[in-house]
Amino acid sequence: GQKVVLITGCSSGIGLRIAVTLAKDEKMRYKVIATMRDLKKKDKLVEAAGDSFGKTLTLLPLDVCSDESVKQCINNVKDRHIDILINNAGVGLLGPVESISIEEMKQVFETNFFGVVRMIKEVMPDMKKRRSGQIIVMSSVMGLQGVVFNDVYTASKFAMEGFCESMAVQLMKFNIRLSMIEPGPVHTEFETKMMEDVAKMEYPGVDTDTVHYFKDVYLPSSIDIFQAMGQTPEDIARYTKKVIESSNPRFRNLTNSLYTPIVALKYADETGGLSVNTFYNLLFNFGPLMRVTMSILKCLTCSCLRRRTISPN
Ligand code: NAD
Repeated sequence: GQKVVLITGCSSGIGLRIAVTLAKDEKMRYKVIATMRDLKKKDKLVEAAGDSFGKTLTLLPLDVCSDESVKQCINNVKDRHIDILINNAGVGLLGPVESISIEEMKQVFETNFFGVVRMIKEVMPDMKKRRSGQIIVMSSVMGLQGVVFNDVYTASKFAMEGFCESMAVQLMKFNIRLSMIEPGPVHTEFETKMMEDVAKMEYPGVDTDTVHYFKDVYLPSSIDIFQAMGQTPEDIARYTKKVIESSNPRFRNLTNSLYTPIVALKYADETGGLSVNTFYNLLFNFGPLMRVTMSILKCLTCSCLRRRTISPN
C-alpha cells in the first residue's frame, strides 16, 4: 500500500519540493501530508502540486515550536500512522555573535533542534510499536563543520546531529531507520531571507574590525560560494527520495560532492588544527584569490557543477 509521509515546513524551499516530488511519484507510492505553520501560505505548494493536490498530497497546519500544535497535527493523521517523518523546517542565523541576543539564539534552537526532538518524540512511540518506520532529518554541511559567522546556526545543527547519532542506535533495534541529509548551499528563500536580515542589521556594540570581516570579507565570499556551488531544491528533493527508496539508507548523506574534502579535513586530524587553519586561510589569506578562482570556475563549469550530486547508492 501507500506509505504515509509527513513533512514539516512545506510552504517554501526544500520542504515544498520534497512534498511535490513524492506526491508526483509515478507509481503513486506515497500519501504526502505536507505541513506548514500557516495554511494561508499554501498557494505556492498547491500550484506546484497540480493534479496531485487532494489526491496524493494533503495539508495540515503544524508549528514545530509548539507542543500543542505538534500533538494536534499527529492526532489528525489517520490512526496516527506515519511511515516516514521528514523533519525539514529550519531557520538560519547569520552575523557576529556580539550582535545577536540570547533570545534570538534560543529561537533558532527552538526550531532547528527542539523542533526535531518534538516531532520525533511524538511519532516514534507508534513507529516502535509497529517495529517499522523511517525518519529523515534535514541537517546541513554546517551540521558537520563549523562556519565562521554562522556560529549559532551551526551549533543548532551540530546539536541535532548529536541527538540523531545517539538515537539511531536505539531506533535500529526497533527497525526504524534514521537518516540525515547534509546539503551545502541551496538556492531557496533561506538564503534571501538571511541576506535581507543582514542588510537591515546595524551591529551596535560590535567593533569595526569584526563588522568589516563579516560584511566585506565573509559575505562576498559566501555569495560566491552560493553561486558556484549552490544546488536547487529539486536536487535535494531528488536526493531525499533516493534515500527514502534505498534498501539500505545511509545515516549521513552529503548531497554535494564538492564538500566531501572539506568534511574529510576534520577526520584527517583529530587535533582540529587542520580544519581551523584551512578555514582561516580560505577566508583571510586566499579569500581574494578564491573569489577569482570561483568566478573562473563559474564561467567554465556553470551547469555541470551546479547539478553535480552524489548518488546515495
Ligand atoms: P526555507 O526558508 O525556504 O524553508 C524553511 C521552512 O521552514 C519555511 O517554509 C519556514 O516557514 C519553515 N519553518 C520555520 N519555522 C517553522 C516552524 N516553527 N514550524 C514549521 N515550519 C517552520 O529554507 P530551506 O532552504 O528550504 O530550508 C529547509 C531546511 O534545509 C532547513 O532545515 C535548513 O536548515 C536546511 N538547509 C538549507 C540550506 C540552504 O542553503 N538553503 C543548506 C543546508 C540545509
